Amino acid sequence: MSQTISDREKAAVLRIIEKAVQEAEGNQSAAARSLGISQQVLNAALMNGRIGRDMAEAVAKSKGTTLEQLAPAPRWTEETLPRGLVELRAKPPADLGPITDQDVDLAIAQFHMALDVYGRHSLDPEEPETSTKLARLELGPHAVTRGELRRGAAGATATVNGSPVIVVARRLSPEWANFVTGHELAHLLLDRAGLPSDEESADYLGAALMAPRAAVLRLYRHHGLDVARLADEVVGTQTWAALRLGEALGQPMAAVSPLRVRVRGPESWEWGGEAQVRALARGRRQLRGVVKVRISDERGRAALFVDEDDMGEVG
Ligand SMILES: [Zn+2]
Repeated sequence: MSQTISDREKAAVLRIIEKAVQEAEGNQSAAARSLGISQQVLNAALMNGRIGRDMAEAVAKSKGTTLEQLAPAPRWTEETLPRGLVELRAKPPADLGPITDQDVDLAIAQFHMALDVYGRHSLDPEEPETSTKLARLELGPHAVTRGELRRGAAGATATVNGSPVIVVARRLSPEWANFVTGHELAHLLLDRAGLPSDEESADYLGAALMAPRAAVLRLYRHHGLDVARLADEVVGTQTWAALRLGEALGQPMAAVSPLRVRVRGPESWEWGGEAQVRALARGRRQLRGVVKVRISDERGRAALFVDEDDMGEVG
């Protein structure tokens, strides 16, 4: 019996764990209890991304579902990809997040979905639009509103008079509201397209809606790795901007926060583990070719970008 677990399944489970910790207001033992796992196991997942199949299945069960449903296998295959996407697939997909082979088809479909939205409304994909504007264009003038949501949720989609309405928690900053609105719009678009509408996909497509790759590349040409500038232009957090840059550039990058390290770029790149990434982010170690970028809008964060043309260890 196979005990392996895919990156997609891992990501889905990690999100549930993070949400549970959030909902328990940081109380890890309460979060662990609610998920039917030990605090030690929860801690290992958060700190090191260590997630085994048994634990993943326990978490899924605690949510009344199965791992398979939490992280459905991508539906798109070479045969079912729309024409045009097949051609893209042959080239290195440029607008992909943290990618496993099986994510590629899906990500390509999502890449096109973001561009489609801009195209449908004659918007220039080099000019990022707010998620609220996109949602109103796609769904109607009353499609986005602020409100109070249950259990600390950041966003939700309700149906009012037969039309979807995205509700964004009143407490959220404009940067977070933009992200959450994009995420909720992405769920609706994925559902409409019959694509898996998991949290990871919604995050990814939501980010692509906030700033299509063309927009990120244009801003990069002007401002380089200035994540504060990109964040301002798009109305996103600087961590968001750093991750989006990594996706658009296709270069290895890592965003380091007190709770987790997230990476973007080719899977072939190996960072050498979380301790190494954290040491680089703190400036305790330096690697030639690794650029540290300060993140100033939240505490204890930094981003690392790799220029693979200039590699070699210095100390
Ligand atoms: Zn969601």
